[in-house]
Formats: sequence, structure tokens, C-alpha cells
Amino acid sequence: MTEVLRLESLRYERAGDGAFVIEVGTLALAPGQVLGIVGPSGCGKSTLIDILALLRRPTRVARFELQGTDVAALWQRGAVDACTALRAAQVGVVLQTGGLLPSLTVLENVRLAQRLLGARDEAWVQHLLAALDLHGLGERRPAQLSIGQRQRVAIARALAHRPALLLADEPTASLGIDHAPAALDLLLALARDSGAALVIVSHDLDLLRDKGVPLRACVVQQHAVVLEEAA
Ligand code: ADP
Ligand code: MG
Repeated sequence: MTEVLRLESLRYERAGDGAFVIEVGTLALAPGQVLGIVGPSGCGKSTLIDILALLRRPTRVARFELQGTDVAALWQRGAVDACTALRAAQVGVVLQTGGLLPSLTVLENVRLAQRLLGARDEAWVQHLLAALDLHGLGERRPAQLSIGQRQRVAIARALAHRPALLLADEPTASLGIDHAPAALDLLLALARDSGAALVIVSHDLDLLRDKGVPLRACVVQQHAVVLEEAA
């Protein structure tokens, strides 16, 4: 079985004012595998999500493979377009605040990734909308939705092109204690349906633990934030 993601000996440094270092020893994910990454605010979780989404380049990395593509080699030779294409096809991201395009309707937001890839699959779009209880809201714009509805649209949008890797950055943090557990259930169930590997970063250890999500912690050390190794 091909791994979705494999990282080895990754180091990311941001110099300057907010000098900051993250280190990851090994991070490997199989299709359908779920991993929660927890740690306090400011420890670098969103930065790590950006790295996994190929939006930030590690300072050095021994191995970085996504769906069988050697991303480290792409970076090495400055193949920015190939990285962008790989991200568009294989990665979906759910942001804390939704990140929907405000001028597009719900349906247009959800269909966007499929359109850009030239891979329409309206049945899957409708399945996602139904599963996320969004039927009847397709013509609305994000501003006309509740925060919970917006967050569910963000989940649908991230899954629409069936990415191999789904990244969720504090996906339920804006929802509050009443609605976060149900939204997390939906995220876990839909990732499982689609066969995506799922990484959820969160400061809410208890919520992920309650759902039985395997966890790894970001440990703040003196000179770097280190992702704890898998048990
Ligand atoms: P988390 O998501 O765990 O709260 P972040 O990845 O957002 O952490 O931030 C990691 C560190 O980098 C923090 O110290 C934060 O203040 C800092 N930081 C985040 N974004 C920037 C930026 N654009 N410029 C400078 N420092 C930043
Ligand atoms: Mg963050």
C-alpha cells in the first residue's frame, strides 16, 4: 500500500524577529489514517500545517513524499509549478475560520477545486452537502450562513476533489463546546468515506481524545518545538 505522506528529519527555521524552529523526526500516514497533533497556542501547529500543505518549504528535510511524489526533490530543483499542481490535486485544507471565498455561493465554493482540476463529480458534491446537512443552502453566500454552517461548507470544500491528504487546522475551534463534537464526527466520518489520510491540529486535547483520535504532541523545548514521535 502506498503511503500518503512520509517525512523524515524535517527542520523548519524562521529567522528574524519571531525566530522559531520546528523539528519532526518521522511522520508517516497511510490512506485512511487519522492523526491528531496537539500543542499550546503559538507552538507552531499552523506552521506545520502550511509545511504539510506544501505552502512553506522546510529549511532541510531528508525525505518528504506525498502520494509517491518526491517533494524534497521538487523543492531542490525549484519546481514551484509542480508543487502547486501536486497540492491542488492531493491536498485539502480546512481552516479554523473556514477560509471560504465570500463572493462565491456555497455550491461554487464547494465545486471550485473540482473545476480548477477539470474533474467534475457532482454526485460527490451532493453527497458531501447532504452528509453535512447543507442541502438548500447551495445558493447562499458565506456571509448568509451561521458559523457552524460555514465550517461545514469548509469541510465539504476541502474534500470535494477527494484529496489523498486532508489537513484540518483547529477545524472546530470557532464552533464552541455545543457544536464542536458533532462537526468533528462529520470530519472524521467523511475523511474515512473518502479514504483520505487526515491530520487535525488542535489545542483541544480532550475533544480529540474523546473521539479516540491517535495523538502526537508538539513539545516546546529550549531551542525548538519538537513533534513527539509516534507511540
Ligand atoms: P499555532 O498554530 O500552534 O498557534 P503558529 O504556527 O501560528 O502556532 O505560530 C508559531 C510561532 O510563529 C508563534 O511564535 C507565532 O507567534 C509565530 N508566527 C506565526 N506567524 C508568523 C509570521 N507571519 N511572522 C512572524 N511570526 C509568526
Ligand atoms: Mg494555529
